[in-house]
Amino acid sequence: MINPHLITIDKKSNVPLFGLDFIGVLDRGTNILEVKPITICNLHCKYCFVSAGDYERNFSIERDYLVEWIKKAIELKNCDDIEIHLAAYGEVLLYNELNELISDLHKIPKIKTISMQSNGLLLNKKKIDELEKAGLDRLNISLNSMDENECADYCGVKKYNLNHLLEVFDLVLQSKIELLIAPVWFKGINDEGVLDVVQYVKNQEKNGYSWPKLRMGIQNYLTYRTGRKIKKARMRDFAYFYKLLNNLEKEYKIKLKLGPKDFEIRKTIAISPPVRLDDKRNVEIIMKGRWKNEYIAIFEKNWAVKVLCKEKIPLKKQIMVKFIKSSLRGNLLTAIPTR
Ligand code: SF4
Repeated sequence: MINPHLITIDKKSNVPLFGLDFIGVLDRGTNILEVKPITICNLHCKYCFVSAGDYERNFSIERDYLVEWIKKAIELKNCDDIEIHLAAYGEVLLYNELNELISDLHKIPKIKTISMQSNGLLLNKKKIDELEKAGLDRLNISLNSMDENECADYCGVKKYNLNHLLEVFDLVLQSKIELLIAPVWFKGINDEGVLDVVQYVKNQEKNGYSWPKLRMGIQNYLTYRTGRKIKKARMRDFAYFYKLLNNLEKEYKIKLKLGPKDFEIRKTIAISPPVRLDDKRNVEIIMKGRWKNEYIAIFEKNWAVKVLCKEKIPLKKQIMVKFIKSSLRGNLLTAIPTR
């Protein structure tokens, strides 16, 4: 059963699952399909680039409908080594049909890997067993420091149970699921914290867990216009960031830079939207989006587009819009009303 406080996206809703960034199926022209089934989160991270927890309306996709669209995406991509990466704009463990979804995906022959991004705090032995049984292959879990109070501060919560998360890591390591620990490095803020996490992974190596069963991938802190930001942290340019990682790799004798080859990512046919930047099209407004000024509209049957408008637009209305964001890779569409 889906949480009643969430707006359900299902067949009846008529919302296509290609084109939106916050929900649905996202293709960047590789053999990875990013799947976003839900928009709620148990944390309120100060650095959350998607501002989860602040939305006026939250959404969840009905499982059968989501599986139908994933199958449609796989067919369009004509690819037989797909990785499904569950990467919600929120916490995927809050999706009520998660085990069933993974189990359904596991039965699709062209899907070779199922991975998932999570903050890990809602996991326990039972849930890990269920995910393993359903067919989950890899878990990416964020951890930005080995200090509980710092973690609570970064994650915008009063209490952060670090010991529980470390127990979760042990349980995942004992299961068949691979573990990727992924701290975000906020320059000048959690420099020590990141090194402590590296040391933790080094200690786990001594316990016999190493690549690819246990990986570490440090992420560069990036800020986005619509995301939350850690006030004093600055973005670091990628050349400098990789130089720092190179130095750490040498010092700690550990792999820290992860690239497409490490996940067997390769280019494939892209699912391309039938519009380009500045194109004008008639779309039908279906429902309100996450924010006050955001609407979800449909065009050409398979495509949803985010329409940004400060004025109220009646639902079911056909309006002319101009596409202000449309990329071949990433198939994310944004438009504004025009004449
Ligand atoms: S960063 Fe992740 S865990 Fe934190 S609030 Fe955003 S979606 Fe939730």
